[in-house]
Amino acid sequence: MNKRGMAIVTGGSKGIGRAVAIQLASDGYDIAFCYRSDSNAAGSVEKEISRLGVGCFHEKCDVSDLDAVKSFVAAAEAELGDTVVLVNSAGIVRDNPMVLLSAEHWNEVIDTNLTGTFNLCRTVVFGLMKRRCGAIVNISSVAGVFGNATQANYSAAKSGIHGLSRSLAKEVAGYGVRVNVVAPGFIETDMTSGMPEKKLAAILEKIPMKVVGQPEHVSGLVSFLVSGRASYITGQVIQVDGGIVL
Ligand code: NAP
Repeated sequence: MNKRGMAIVTGGSKGIGRAVAIQLASDGYDIAFCYRSDSNAAGSVEKEISRLGVGCFHEKCDVSDLDAVKSFVAAAEAELGDTVVLVNSAGIVRDNPMVLLSAEHWNEVIDTNLTGTFNLCRTVVFGLMKRRCGAIVNISSVAGVFGNATQANYSAAKSGIHGLSRSLAKEVAGYGVRVNVVAPGFIETDMTSGMPEKKLAAILEKIPMKVVGQPEHVSGLVSFLVSGRASYITGQVIQVDGGIVL
């Protein structure tokens, strides 16, 4: 298989990040991924990636901590070489209506989803610019496009990712680096599991395709966006949502 260099995937142990890590591994990238706490899940992703014949490095790293992110990226590059692709998928929700939303849950969601994305972009971007190639995909959400009741914190973080990504895309386009955003709708993962039947039915009602999305619906687009087939696409926010209208 043609080696393509190293792809970093945050939140690569579960859900969308896991599907992205496995897809990019089967595309021929060595994979470095991080996660926050669940080492067992990380171990099972490592097994799948190793079977695909590419290198795999993973570490616990809280993306909201810039020093931890710098150490993670340095360790990954020491093991697998220069970063060529970055996918920011680590994310959390802490839903509540604004009247009940605590400052703690506001900060937690902004720190993980938005500042985490900044921390990774900030850490790898100079290397990508110097080498004059690379692709970044940041995972946001349809909630960042339309807003969503009970998700002011999450929607703000995800809209922030759109601004960050479009601005960064403009800064680095001249260096051969592309930055895009994938905004999923409702995808079946740990994040969305345990939803009451009634709420799930109400969501399905809003999805014209009448099925919930799978992580592989998202990873297919990420694989395309980081590839040469997307070489003239940058600064875009692309929804993967079965046509959902919030
Ligand atoms: P998930 O299944 O809950 O997985 C989240 C992953 O992020 C896990 O690997 C988790 O690690 C990691 N993570 C969480 N906080 C972290 C932190 N501070 N530092 C490092 N890693 C951290 O979630 P998902 O559904 O795949 O979501 C992935 C991304 O897609 C998120 O950005 C989410 O907002 C976005 N998204 C999801 C949906 C959906 O319907 N599922 C829709 C739109 C957008 P641990 O498990 O070890 O904590």
